Amino acid sequence: IILPLSLALSALGISAITAMSRRQLSLASELASAIRRKKLSVHYQPVIDLKTGDCVGAEALVRWFKSNGTSVRPDIFVDVAEETGQIRALTDLVIETTMRELGPAMRRDRSLHVAINLSADDVSSGRFLPILERILARYDVLHEQIWLEATERGFPEMEAVRETVAKARALGFKIAIDDFGTGYSSLSYIESIRLDALKIDKSFIDSIGQDLATSSVTPHIIDMAKSLDLITVAEGIETREQLNYLEQHGVALGQGWLFAKAMPARDFVAFVAAHRKKISASGTA
Ligand code: C2E
Ligand code: MG
Ligand code: MG
Ligand code: MG
Repeated sequence: IILPLSLALSALGISAITAMSRRQLSLASELASAIRRKKLSVHYQPVIDLKTGDCVGAEALVRWFKSNGTSVRPDIFVDVAEETGQIRALTDLVIETTMRELGPAMRRDRSLHVAINLSADDVSSGRFLPILERILARYDVLHEQIWLEATERGFPEMEAVRETVAKARALGFKIAIDDFGTGYSSLSYIESIRLDALKIDKSFIDSIGQDLATSSVTPHIIDMAKSLDLITVAEGIETREQLNYLEQHGVALGQGWLFAKAMPARDFVAFVAAHRKKISASGTA
Protein backbone atom coordinates (compact mmCIF):
# COMPACT_ATOMS: atom_id res chain seq x y z
CA ILE A 1 0.00 0.00 0.00
CA ILE A 2 1.39 3.40 -0.91
CA LEU A 3 0.14 6.17 1.35
CA PRO A 4 0.26 9.79 0.31
CA LEU A 5 3.52 11.14 1.71
CA SER A 6 1.92 13.78 3.88
CA LEU A 7 -0.40 11.21 5.43
CA ALA A 8 2.45 8.78 6.07
CA LEU A 9 4.55 11.51 7.63
CA SER A 10 1.81 12.82 9.85
CA ALA A 11 0.95 9.29 10.96
CA LEU A 12 4.61 8.73 11.77
CA GLY A 13 4.95 12.10 13.37
CA ILE A 14 1.95 11.67 15.61
CA SER A 15 2.94 8.23 16.81
CA ALA A 16 6.55 9.34 17.39
CA ILE A 17 5.46 12.37 19.39
CA THR A 18 3.01 10.35 21.45
CA ALA A 19 5.56 7.66 22.21
CA MET A 20 8.15 10.24 23.15
CA SER A 21 5.94 12.26 25.41
CA ARG A 22 4.70 9.14 27.13
CA ARG A 23 8.29 8.14 27.84
CA GLN A 24 9.13 11.64 28.98
CA LEU A 25 6.08 11.67 31.20
CA SER A 26 6.92 8.42 32.92
CA LEU A 27 10.52 9.58 33.34
CA ALA A 28 9.24 12.82 34.83
CA SER A 29 7.06 11.05 37.38
CA GLU A 30 9.82 8.59 38.27
CA LEU A 31 12.15 11.55 38.72
CA ALA A 32 9.66 13.32 40.98
CA SER A 33 9.55 10.31 43.24
CA ALA A 34 13.36 9.92 43.18
CA ILE A 35 13.78 13.56 44.21
CA ARG A 36 11.11 13.32 46.89
CA ARG A 37 12.73 10.22 48.37
CA LYS A 38 16.20 11.78 47.98
CA LYS A 39 17.30 8.93 45.74
CA LEU A 40 19.58 11.05 43.53
CA SER A 41 23.32 10.80 44.22
CA VAL A 42 26.13 13.24 43.62
CA HIS A 43 29.55 12.29 42.27
CA TYR A 44 32.58 14.56 42.38
CA GLN A 45 35.12 15.08 39.62
CA PRO A 46 38.53 16.35 40.80
CA VAL A 47 39.66 19.76 39.57
CA ILE A 48 43.44 19.95 39.12
CA ASP A 49 45.80 22.94 39.22
CA LEU A 50 47.65 22.41 35.93
CA LYS A 51 50.79 24.16 37.16
CA THR A 52 51.27 22.36 40.48
CA GLY A 53 49.28 19.21 39.78
CA ASP A 54 47.45 19.71 43.06
CA CYS A 55 43.78 18.79 43.43
CA VAL A 56 42.08 22.07 44.35
CA GLY A 57 38.46 21.03 44.32
CA ALA A 58 35.68 19.18 42.59
CA GLU A 59 32.67 19.60 40.38
CA ALA A 60 29.46 18.15 41.83
CA LEU A 61 27.67 16.07 39.18
CA VAL A 62 24.23 14.64 39.88
CA ARG A 63 23.64 10.92 39.32
CA TRP A 64 20.47 8.84 39.12
CA PHE A 65 21.00 5.15 39.84
CA LYS A 66 17.69 3.34 39.71
CA SER A 67 16.89 0.45 41.99
CA ASN A 68 16.74 -1.90 38.97
CA GLY A 69 20.46 -1.37 38.44
CA THR A 70 20.18 0.98 35.44
CA SER A 71 21.00 4.65 35.45
CA VAL A 72 19.78 7.70 33.57
CA ARG A 73 22.25 10.21 32.14
CA PRO A 74 22.19 13.62 33.84
CA ASP A 75 21.92 15.59 30.61
CA ILE A 76 18.67 13.68 29.98
CA PHE A 77 17.03 13.95 33.39
CA VAL A 78 18.24 17.49 34.09
CA ASP A 79 16.41 18.51 30.89
CA VAL A 80 13.30 16.66 32.06
CA ALA A 81 13.58 18.38 35.45
CA GLU A 82 13.85 21.77 33.73
CA GLU A 83 10.85 21.08 31.49
CA THR A 84 8.60 19.75 34.26
CA GLY A 85 9.23 22.30 36.99
CA GLN A 86 11.42 20.04 39.10
CA ILE A 87 14.76 21.79 38.68
CA ARG A 88 14.46 23.79 41.90
CA ALA A 89 13.95 20.64 43.94
CA LEU A 90 16.82 18.96 42.09
CA THR A 91 19.19 21.89 42.69
CA ASP A 92 18.26 21.97 46.39
CA LEU A 93 18.89 18.24 46.72
CA VAL A 94 22.29 18.53 44.99
CA ILE A 95 23.31 21.44 47.25
CA GLU A 96 22.16 19.60 50.37
CA THR A 97 23.87 16.34 49.40
CA THR A 98 27.11 18.04 48.36
CA MET A 99 27.42 19.99 51.60
CA ARG A 100 26.57 17.00 53.75
CA GLU A 101 29.11 14.81 51.92
CA LEU A 102 31.97 17.27 51.31
CA GLY A 103 31.30 19.85 54.05
CA PRO A 104 33.53 18.18 56.67
CA ALA A 105 36.46 17.80 54.23
CA MET A 106 36.07 21.40 53.06
CA ARG A 107 36.09 22.62 56.63
CA ARG A 108 39.32 20.76 57.32
CA ASP A 109 40.88 22.01 54.10
CA ARG A 110 39.97 25.59 53.17
CA SER A 111 41.84 25.33 49.87
CA LEU A 112 39.20 22.92 48.51
CA HIS A 113 36.31 24.28 46.48
CA VAL A 114 33.25 22.60 45.04
CA ALA A 115 31.45 23.72 41.89
CA ILE A 116 27.66 23.38 41.75
CA ASN A 117 25.87 23.35 38.38
CA LEU A 118 22.90 25.70 38.15
CA SER A 119 20.14 25.83 35.58
CA ALA A 120 18.90 28.97 33.88
CA ASP A 121 15.89 29.03 36.18
CA ASP A 122 18.09 28.95 39.30
CA VAL A 123 20.22 31.82 38.02
CA SER A 124 17.33 34.04 37.03
CA SER A 125 15.30 33.42 40.19
CA GLY A 126 18.23 33.47 42.63
CA ARG A 127 15.98 31.40 44.85
CA PHE A 128 18.71 28.92 45.79
CA LEU A 129 20.85 31.62 47.45
CA PRO A 130 19.20 31.75 50.90
CA ILE A 131 19.06 27.92 50.95
CA LEU A 132 22.75 27.69 50.11
CA GLU A 133 23.56 30.33 52.75
CA ARG A 134 21.77 28.34 55.44
CA ILE A 135 23.45 25.07 54.53
CA LEU A 136 26.92 26.69 54.34
CA ALA A 137 26.52 28.09 57.83
CA ARG A 138 25.46 24.69 59.12
CA TYR A 139 28.59 23.01 57.73
CA ASP A 140 30.92 25.96 58.34
CA VAL A 141 32.00 26.10 54.71
CA LEU A 142 33.22 29.47 53.38
CA HIS A 143 31.50 31.27 50.53
CA GLU A 144 34.69 31.37 48.48
CA GLN A 145 34.81 27.56 48.64
CA ILE A 146 31.65 27.44 46.52
CA TRP A 147 31.70 27.94 42.77
CA LEU A 148 28.40 28.36 40.99
CA GLU A 149 28.43 27.42 37.33
CA ALA A 150 25.87 27.82 34.58
CA THR A 151 26.08 27.59 30.82
CA GLU A 152 25.71 30.68 28.68
CA ARG A 153 22.05 29.69 28.29
CA GLY A 154 21.86 30.37 32.03
CA PHE A 155 23.06 33.90 31.45
CA PRO A 156 20.48 35.38 29.11
CA GLU A 157 20.54 39.10 28.80
CA MET A 158 18.36 39.76 31.79
CA GLU A 159 18.41 42.12 34.70
CA ALA A 160 17.47 39.27 37.08
CA VAL A 161 20.59 37.30 36.14
CA ARG A 162 22.78 40.32 36.66
CA GLU A 163 21.19 40.76 40.06
CA THR A 164 21.66 37.14 41.17
CA VAL A 165 25.27 37.10 39.98
CA ALA A 166 26.05 40.41 41.68
CA LYS A 167 24.39 39.29 44.90
CA ALA A 168 26.19 35.93 44.87
CA ARG A 169 29.57 37.56 44.19
CA ALA A 170 29.00 40.14 46.92
CA LEU A 171 28.49 37.24 49.34
CA GLY A 172 31.81 35.78 48.19
CA PHE A 173 30.69 32.95 45.89
CA LYS A 174 32.70 32.39 42.70
CA ILE A 175 30.78 32.45 39.43
CA ALA A 176 31.83 30.41 36.41
CA ILE A 177 30.47 30.12 32.89
CA ASP A 178 30.21 26.47 31.91
CA ASP A 179 30.74 25.07 28.39
CA PHE A 180 32.28 28.38 27.35
CA GLY A 181 32.48 28.90 23.61
CA THR A 182 29.39 26.86 22.72
CA GLY A 183 26.79 29.54 23.45
CA TYR A 184 25.87 32.79 21.84
CA SER A 185 27.11 35.31 24.38
CA SER A 186 28.85 38.25 22.85
CA LEU A 187 32.19 39.12 24.33
CA SER A 188 30.85 42.52 25.34
CA TYR A 189 28.05 40.88 27.31
CA ILE A 190 30.44 38.54 29.13
CA GLU A 191 32.64 41.55 29.81
CA SER A 192 29.73 43.54 31.23
CA ILE A 193 28.92 41.00 33.92
CA ARG A 194 31.47 40.39 36.67
CA LEU A 195 32.47 36.71 36.68
CA ASP A 196 35.31 34.69 38.16
CA ALA A 197 35.96 31.78 35.81
CA LEU A 198 35.39 30.45 32.32
CA LYS A 199 35.21 26.73 31.75
CA ILE A 200 36.39 26.04 28.23
CA ASP A 201 34.07 23.48 26.66
CA LYS A 202 35.35 19.97 26.06
CA SER A 203 34.83 20.28 22.29
CA PHE A 204 37.75 22.76 22.14
CA ILE A 205 39.93 20.51 24.26
CA ASP A 206 39.05 17.55 22.00
CA SER A 207 40.34 19.42 18.99
CA ILE A 208 43.84 19.89 20.43
CA GLY A 209 46.29 17.85 18.41
CA GLN A 210 43.58 17.05 15.91
CA ASP A 211 43.94 18.32 12.39
CA LEU A 212 40.57 20.06 12.38
CA ALA A 213 39.50 23.58 11.62
CA THR A 214 38.23 23.99 15.19
CA SER A 215 41.69 23.45 16.63
CA SER A 216 42.59 26.93 15.42
CA VAL A 217 39.79 28.36 17.57
CA THR A 218 41.08 26.87 20.84
CA PRO A 219 43.99 29.30 21.38
CA HIS A 220 41.64 32.23 20.78
CA ILE A 221 39.15 30.95 23.34
CA ILE A 222 42.01 30.62 25.83
CA ASP A 223 43.33 34.11 25.02
CA MET A 224 39.86 35.55 25.38
CA ALA A 225 39.41 34.07 28.86
CA LYS A 226 42.84 35.29 29.91
CA SER A 227 42.30 38.78 28.49
CA LEU A 228 39.10 39.04 30.55
CA ASP A 229 41.27 38.29 33.57
CA LEU A 230 39.21 35.25 34.51
CA ILE A 231 40.33 31.91 35.89
CA THR A 232 40.51 29.45 32.99
CA VAL A 233 39.34 25.88 33.47
CA ALA A 234 39.68 23.23 30.76
CA GLU A 235 36.94 20.58 30.66
CA GLY A 236 37.33 17.01 29.50
CA ILE A 237 41.12 16.59 29.35
CA GLU A 238 41.73 13.04 28.16
CA THR A 239 45.27 12.98 26.82
CA ARG A 240 48.80 13.98 27.86
CA GLU A 241 49.08 15.98 24.66
CA GLN A 242 46.03 18.08 25.56
CA LEU A 243 47.38 18.60 29.07
CA ASN A 244 50.79 19.74 27.79
CA TYR A 245 49.18 22.15 25.35
CA LEU A 246 46.90 23.67 27.99
CA GLU A 247 49.78 23.98 30.44
CA GLN A 248 51.91 25.72 27.83
CA HIS A 249 49.09 28.10 27.02
CA GLY A 250 48.67 29.08 30.66
CA VAL A 251 45.30 27.51 31.41
CA ALA A 252 45.04 27.49 35.20
CA LEU A 253 42.82 24.53 36.08
CA GLY A 254 41.55 21.38 34.43
CA GLN A 255 39.30 18.38 34.81
CA GLY A 256 39.08 15.22 32.78
CA TRP A 257 39.38 11.49 32.62
CA LEU A 258 43.17 11.83 32.32
CA PHE A 259 43.09 12.75 36.03
CA ALA A 260 39.87 11.12 37.22
CA LYS A 261 36.21 10.56 36.46
CA ALA A 262 33.52 11.78 38.83
CA MET A 263 33.37 9.53 41.91
CA PRO A 264 31.47 9.13 45.20
CA ALA A 265 32.39 11.53 48.04
CA ARG A 266 34.34 8.97 50.04
CA ASP A 267 36.52 8.14 47.03
CA PHE A 268 37.03 11.83 46.29
CA VAL A 269 38.30 12.56 49.80
CA ALA A 270 40.69 9.59 49.48
CA PHE A 271 41.74 10.80 46.03
CA VAL A 272 42.71 14.24 47.38
CA ALA A 273 44.84 12.72 50.13
CA ALA A 274 46.55 10.18 47.84
CA HIS A 275 47.08 12.80 45.13
CA ARG A 276 48.75 15.22 47.59
CA LYS A 277 51.06 12.51 48.84
CA LYS A 278 52.02 11.59 45.29
CA ILE A 279 52.72 15.20 44.34
CA SER A 280 54.82 16.00 47.38
CA ALA A 281 56.76 12.76 46.86
CA SER A 282 57.52 13.59 43.22
CA GLY A 283 58.37 17.18 44.23
CA THR A 284 61.10 16.10 46.61
CA ALA A 285 62.39 13.24 44.44
P1 C2E B 1 28.95 19.81 32.58
O1 C2E B 1 28.58 20.62 33.76
O2 C2E B 1 29.63 20.51 31.47
O3 C2E B 1 29.83 18.61 33.15
C1 C2E B 1 30.89 18.01 32.45
C2 C2E B 1 30.51 16.66 31.91
O4 C2E B 1 31.62 16.09 31.22
C3 C2E B 1 30.14 15.66 32.98
O5 C2E B 1 29.15 14.80 32.42
C4 C2E B 1 31.44 14.89 33.18
O6 C2E B 1 31.25 13.59 33.75
C5 C2E B 1 31.94 14.82 31.77
N1 C2E B 1 33.39 14.67 31.68
C6 C2E B 1 34.34 15.16 32.51
N2 C2E B 1 35.57 14.84 32.08
C7 C2E B 1 35.42 14.14 30.94
C8 C2E B 1 36.35 13.55 30.00
O7 C2E B 1 37.57 13.60 30.13
N3 C2E B 1 35.79 12.91 28.93
C9 C2E B 1 34.46 12.84 28.74
N4 C2E B 1 34.01 12.20 27.65
N5 C2E B 1 33.56 13.40 29.58
C10 C2E B 1 34.05 14.03 30.67
P2 C2E B 1 27.86 14.37 33.22
O8 C2E B 1 28.19 14.11 34.64
O9 C2E B 1 27.22 13.28 32.43
O10 C2E B 1 26.94 15.66 33.18
C11 C2E B 1 26.43 16.16 31.98
C12 C2E B 1 25.81 17.52 32.16
O11 C2E B 1 24.65 17.43 32.99
C13 C2E B 1 26.70 18.52 32.87
O12 C2E B 1 27.64 19.08 31.97
C14 C2E B 1 25.68 19.54 33.34
O13 C2E B 1 25.30 20.41 32.31
C15 C2E B 1 24.50 18.63 33.69
N6 C2E B 1 24.52 18.41 35.15
C16 C2E B 1 25.19 17.48 35.86
N7 C2E B 1 24.94 17.61 37.19
C17 C2E B 1 24.07 18.65 37.32
C18 C2E B 1 23.43 19.28 38.44
O14 C2E B 1 23.63 18.94 39.62
N8 C2E B 1 22.59 20.34 38.16
C19 C2E B 1 22.39 20.78 36.88
N9 C2E B 1 21.54 21.84 36.70
N10 C2E B 1 22.98 20.22 35.81
C20 C2E B 1 23.81 19.17 36.02
MG1 MG C 1 29.51 21.99 34.88
MG1 MG D 1 30.78 21.91 31.02
MG1 MG E 1 27.65 20.50 29.65
